[in-house]
Amino acid sequence: MKTLRLILGDQLNSKHSWYKNNDKNVLYCLFEMRQETDYVTHHIQKIIGFFAAMRAFSNHLKDNNFNVDYYKLDDKNNTQDLVENLKRLIKKHDIKKFEYQLPDEYRLDQQLSEFCKFIDIESEAFSTEHFYTEREDLKAFFKGKKQYLMENFYRDMRKKHDILMAGNQPEGGKWNYDKSNRNKWKGEHQIPTYKYFKNDVSDIVELIKKSDIKTIGKFDTKTFSYPITRAQALDQLKYFCEELLIHFGDYQDAMHTDEVYLFHSRLSFAMNIKLISAKNIVDTVLNYWRKHGDNIDISQVEGFIRQIIGWREYMRGMYWALMPEYKTENHLENTNKLPEFYWTGKTKMNCLKNAIINSLDNGYAHHIQRLMVTGNFALLAQINPDDVDAWYLGIYVDALEWVQLPNTRGMSQFADGGKIATKPYVSSGSYINKMSNYCDDCYYDKKEKLGEKACPFNSLYWNFLDDKRSILGNNRRMGMMYSLLDKMDKDQLVNIKKRAQSIIKNPDNF
Ligand SMILES: Cc1cc2nc3c(=O)[nH]c(=O)nc-3n(C[C@H](O)[C@H](O)[C@H](O)COP(=O)(O)OP(=O)(O)OC[C@H]3O[C@@H](n4cnc5c(N)ncnc54)[C@H](O)[C@@H]3O)c2cc1C
Ligand code: SF4
Repeated sequence: MKTLRLILGDQLNSKHSWYKNNDKNVLYCLFEMRQETDYVTHHIQKIIGFFAAMRAFSNHLKDNNFNVDYYKLDDKNNTQDLVENLKRLIKKHDIKKFEYQLPDEYRLDQQLSEFCKFIDIESEAFSTEHFYTEREDLKAFFKGKKQYLMENFYRDMRKKHDILMAGNQPEGGKWNYDKSNRNKWKGEHQIPTYKYFKNDVSDIVELIKKSDIKTIGKFDTKTFSYPITRAQALDQLKYFCEELLIHFGDYQDAMHTDEVYLFHSRLSFAMNIKLISAKNIVDTVLNYWRKHGDNIDISQVEGFIRQIIGWREYMRGMYWALMPEYKTENHLENTNKLPEFYWTGKTKMNCLKNAIINSLDNGYAHHIQRLMVTGNFALLAQINPDDVDAWYLGIYVDALEWVQLPNTRGMSQFADGGKIATKPYVSSGSYINKMSNYCDDCYYDKKEKLGEKACPFNSLYWNFLDDKRSILGNNRRMGMMYSLLDKMDKDQLVNIKKRAQSIIKNPDNF
C-alpha cells in the first residue's frame, strides 16, 4: 500500500472524485473514536447516526472492492485518537503518502495540519466537493465591506449559479419571499406521515452503553430514523419534493404542540455528513418543481433554496472567515449558567418544554424553535454563550461546529456584536404566540408582564433591553424598541425588572 486516505465521519460523499478509480495502492481508513464521542456531551442519536452511517459507507466501499481499514470503537487496535491511529496505519502499511479531505471543523483542521507538519512522508489535502463554495470564498466576496450581509451573498450565489434567475433578474420578480414564510399552522393542511427509516442500530446502542459514553437525549427503539446512506438521503429528498415542498415556505416559521417536523425536510443530518451534496438537493428540488410543480408557488421553492445556498453556505463561510476568535466572543458580556431544564425539559413554560422535549426525543428542533424559543430564552436570561454553544453542539443530530457556532453564538446570541445578525433575535411572548399554539395550554399568561402567572418572556424582554442599553442603545434597528421602553412607566419598569431578576436567579423554578 502506498497511499493512506482518511475519511472523517462527516465526509461520507460517495460521489467524491477519490472514488472514480479504484487504485489498489490506496488504503482508506475510518475510525470511531472517543476523541469524537467525548469533545462535548452528544445526543445519543447523534453518535448512533454517525457510527451507523460510517459503517454503511465503509461497507459500500468494501462492496466496491476498495481497500478499507475500519476501526470500530472497541477495536483492539483503536487508540481512540486520530493522530495515533493514523501513525499506526502509516507504520503498519509502510505508507508513502497521506491524503485527507479538508475538515469542516476548525479543531480537526488544526489537528490534521499539525500532523502533516510532523510526519516525514508527503501529504495532500483535497476539497470535500460537497459545498457550492470553498472555505475562503465568502471572505473574498466581502473583502473591504463593513458588514457581511447574508442577502448580498445569497443574491450573488443565485446569479453565479444561475438558480431561480430569468436572465439577470430573479425569477418571479423577487429575490426573497421571506414575508410569505410566516404563517401559523392551524391544521388546515394535513401533514403527511413522516418518512422514518428503520436502520437497525442495536449493536451500536450496545457499544455506546458498554463503553460508558456520556450522552443526552432519548433512544428507546432499535431503529434510527434519519437517512444513513446516499440511497436513503435521495429517498428522503424525493419525499420532501412530493409531499412537503408545497407548504414548506408557508409554514417554515410555524410551531405546534402536535408536530415535530411540520413541512421541514429533515435533511440536515444527511447533508452535514455529506451523503448528498448541496447542489444535488437544489437541482432535484428545482427539477421537481419545473416538472410537477404547477400548484407549488415559487415562494415555497425560493424559501427552501435560500436555506441551502444562502444560509448554509453563508454560515460556513463566516465560520472560516472568523475562527478561531469567533468561538470566544461575548459582546453582551453574558455570564449566567444555562438552566437545568435545558437538559430535562422540566419547566412550566410550554414553549420551552415542547422545544426541549422534541430535541431530547428526536435530536431535532426546527430553526424557529432553536432561534425564537430556546435561543431567545437563553439570550433574555443572559446565559454565557459558552454554555449555550455546548448545549446546541451536543443536542442536535445535525450539530457540527461550522454550522452550529455561527448560528448559535452569532445569529441567536448576538455574542459577535452583529457580524451575522443586525440586531438580537429577542422577543416577548407575543411572537411565540403568533407563530404557535404553545401559549394556549401554558401555565403562564402570554399577555401579562407582572404577577405570578405572567409569561416570563415578557419581563425578561424589557429587562434585557434595559440592561443592555449601553451596548444596544445606538443600534438603529432597535430604535423602536428603545422608544417603547422609554415611554414605559418608571415604577412599572422597576417591577418588571424585579420579576425578571427573580426568573434569572432561579430559572428552574419557572
Ligand atoms: C441556534 C441555532 C442553531 C443551529 N444549529 C444548527 C446545527 O448545528 N446544524 C445545522 O445543520 N443547522 C443548524 N441550525 C439551522 C437549522 O435550524 C437546521 O439546519 C434545521 O432546523 C435542520 O432541519 P431540516 O433539515 O428539517 O431543515 P429545513 O427547514 O428543511 O431546511 C433545509 C436545510 O436548510 C439548511 N438550513 C436551514 N437553516 C439554516 C441555517 N440557519 N444555517 C445553516 N443551514 C440552514 C439546512 O441544511 C437544512 O437541512 C441552527 C439554527 C439555529 C437558529
Ligand atoms: S405564555 Fe409565555 S412561556 Fe407560555 S408558551 Fe407562551 S411564550 Fe411560552
